[in-house]
Amino acid sequence: MLVFARLAFSTLIIGLFTASSFAHESTDIATPHIQTAESQSALTPHDALEKLKNGNLRFVDEDKRDFNYTSARKITSIEGQHPFALIFSCIDSRSTPEITFDQGVGNIFTARVAGNVIGTNVLGSIEYAIQYVGSKLVVIMGHTQCGAMGAACTGESYGNNLNHLLLDIKPAVSTIEREESELSCSEPMQINAIAKQNVLNQMQNALFKSTALREMNENGDILLVGAMHNIKTGEVSFFDIDGEAL
Ligand SMILES: [Zn+2]
Repeated sequence: MLVFARLAFSTLIIGLFTASSFAHESTDIATPHIQTAESQSALTPHDALEKLKNGNLRFVDEDKRDFNYTSARKITSIEGQHPFALIFSCIDSRSTPEITFDQGVGNIFTARVAGNVIGTNVLGSIEYAIQYVGSKLVVIMGHTQCGAMGAACTGESYGNNLNHLLLDIKPAVSTIEREESELSCSEPMQINAIAKQNVLNQMQNALFKSTALREMNENGDILLVGAMHNIKTGEVSFFDIDGEAL
């Protein structure tokens, strides 16, 4: 019991010492892989895109960074957050932006809705990121094998809020239906084509509904891009609002 008490006391002293030491450290600690105000402001929107591309290469190549989450947590709690990008993507558990782009704590914002359909609250989140926190890049990302695309394609009624969400994907289904001689909801290629078309539609919606996003994108202050995540290979392909590869 006495030994335990001594150990607990020692742990307390060490803990206090560590916390005290950290409190006296400079707040501009040079820890790799953490986005700071300086590194964020030095980035162009295209630099930010390159960072995501490189992060995705690391993810695909199993060359992931060795993040120190404890250090990142301490530093970002003192310095604040300075994410260089916002990723808006589906809720699919196989498509998680922090992992897919090999980013640690405090580097990217993520907003997620099934089928990555844009709504007012998501647009508000995007505006917060680009207008008030200085993020340089907005990515609207769909993915292969998306269940929401399949559900929108078959047109099944769920009789609840999910119906409302699927309605927002319907225009993409209609586009692919026009382009293909026959719409087949069991055909993965068509489901993936719907997913990419849906990203393009959501990009248009976002630019139409958010003056800040539209103007900052036109001025080159930020960059809005689309993306598709292949959940089998892990690769993310980026494209512009015309669907052209970036
Ligand atoms: Zn999905």
